[in-house]
Amino acid sequence: MLDLTARIAHENNGKIPGSRNVNGGLTLAHAPLARLLGVYDADEAYLAGRWTMSQLRDTVQLTATLSPCPLPVGELPSRTGERITWTERLIASKESLDIWQRRLVYYAMYYLAATVMLRDSQLSVLPFDPLKTQEFTRPDGSTYIKHTLSAYKTKNRHAAVPTSVVVNGRVARIIALLHRLQRALGYEPRRSDTTGVPFLFDQLLATPLGKRSHGMARDGLYLDLSFPKMLKEGARELYDRGVTKRSLDDIDISMRHVRITSAQAYAVREHGQALAAAFGQWDTAAVARGYVGDVYKLITPIDPDEAADLVHQDAGRRLHRAYTHRPELTGKGQARLDQTIETNLAALSNPQPLTPARLKTLGKRNRNIEQGPLTLCLYQIEGALCGGKGKPDFRLCLPGQCRNSVMTPADRARYELMRRQHLALKSDVLRRAADKMHDANPDIAAEFADTTDDELHAIITAHIDEYIRAALEDRA
Ligand code: SF4
Repeated sequence: MLDLTARIAHENNGKIPGSRNVNGGLTLAHAPLARLLGVYDADEAYLAGRWTMSQLRDTVQLTATLSPCPLPVGELPSRTGERITWTERLIASKESLDIWQRRLVYYAMYYLAATVMLRDSQLSVLPFDPLKTQEFTRPDGSTYIKHTLSAYKTKNRHAAVPTSVVVNGRVARIIALLHRLQRALGYEPRRSDTTGVPFLFDQLLATPLGKRSHGMARDGLYLDLSFPKMLKEGARELYDRGVTKRSLDDIDISMRHVRITSAQAYAVREHGQALAAAFGQWDTAAVARGYVGDVYKLITPIDPDEAADLVHQDAGRRLHRAYTHRPELTGKGQARLDQTIETNLAALSNPQPLTPARLKTLGKRNRNIEQGPLTLCLYQIEGALCGGKGKPDFRLCLPGQCRNSVMTPADRARYELMRRQHLALKSDVLRRAADKMHDANPDIAAEFADTTDDELHAIITAHIDEYIRAALEDRA
C-alpha cells in the first residue's frame, strides 16, 4: 500500500485520498486502496493503512476530494434521466472484472445458442477458430462481407458431423472478442476429446487471470442449470445501476424456451418482427432501411430441419388466412393465389379445426408459400421479379408488382409506413426509393391517405400480436 499511496501522492502534488471517520476527521482511505491491491479484509487494510501513514507522515496531505480509483470517472444519464457515475472499464477486483469476464463468456455462448440454435453439446465442441470471413463483389460493384461459422451437428449422432452456416456480423465480433480474451489470459487452446480439434469454450476462458478453475470444474463451459441464475444476476446488477430498463427477475428462463423462441422467430416472420420491435428498432429509421428483414439474418439455425415443422405450419396458416380473408388481399399474384386455393379447397373448406398437424400437411403441399417483410410470396420461377433462384429473394422483392405477390392490409400498412419513413429521412437516395415505391403501388398511398403513422403502426402491431397469438396457441 505504501508504493501505491506514494505514487498517488507523486501524481497529485503530495495529496492522497482520505475518507471521513465517525468523528468527522480525515484518515487515509485505506479500504478502497487495499481493494485496489486485492485485499478485502478490513483489519488487514486498516493495519496496512496505519503503517503507510507512519512512513509517509508529513510528506503528504489527506484530501476528501481525491479519488483513489485509477480510472477516469465520468457520468452517464440513467434510464430515469438522473446522472450516474461511470467508468469506461472495470478494475480487476472481485466484484467487477472477474465476475464480468465470466458473465461475458457465458453471454457470448447464450447469443450463439439463441441465434444459431447451438445446443450445449455443440457449443462444447465449437472449434477455437470457427469463422471464415470473405468479401464478395456484387454485379453493381458494391461489396459485402460473408461470415461462415464452422460447427458440428451432434443431435442423434454417434460422432460429431462438421457443418457450417452463414452468420451475422455480431457473431464475428463475439468470436474476435473471445480470441482477445484468450490471448490476454495467455493459455493454449486445448483439443476436444470428441473432435480432436481445439475448442473455443474452454473452462479457462471464464477463469480470471492468475486464478485456477474449480477443482471439480469440467473442461468445457455449459449453459446448464446455473446459467439462468448468472444471467439474472448480471441483469439485476445492470438494472440496479440504472443501465438497463428492466431486470430479468420476473422471467422464467430456460434454454429450451430460448431454442423454441428462436425456431419460431426463424419460421414465422411475424414472430421475427416482434423480436425486432422488442429490440426497440420498430418505428425508427432502422426499420425504414429494412431492419425488419435483418431479423432473418440474425437467426440462422445450424440445422434448419429442426424448425421445419414450424415452417410448414406457418405456410399452412398463411394459406388458410389468405383463403378466409380473400377480399382484403391485393397484388398481381391474386390469380396464382386463387389457383392455389382451388387446388387445396377440400382442406381449406373442411369445417374440422385446423390442428397443427393439418396446418403442417397443408404447408408441406405448398412449400412455395413464404411471408416476406412486405408481401406474401407464392413463389413460382416464372415471372419472379426478384430472380430468386428457386426461392424468394426478399431483398430484391417488388411487392404488389410481381406475379407471385399478394399483400394483406398489414403488408400494405408496413409498405406505406416504410415509404413515409424514407421521405421523412430527407435523403436523396431514400426519396428516390420512396418515389419508386409509390410508382409501383400508387393505390397503397391512396388507401392510407387519411391514416396517421401511429394508426399504421397500430394496424401492423395488432396483426403481429394476433398472428403470434394464433401460432403460439396452435390455431389457424
Ligand atoms: S419478387 Fe417478391 S413476390 Fe416475387 S418472387 Fe421474388 S420475393 Fe416473391
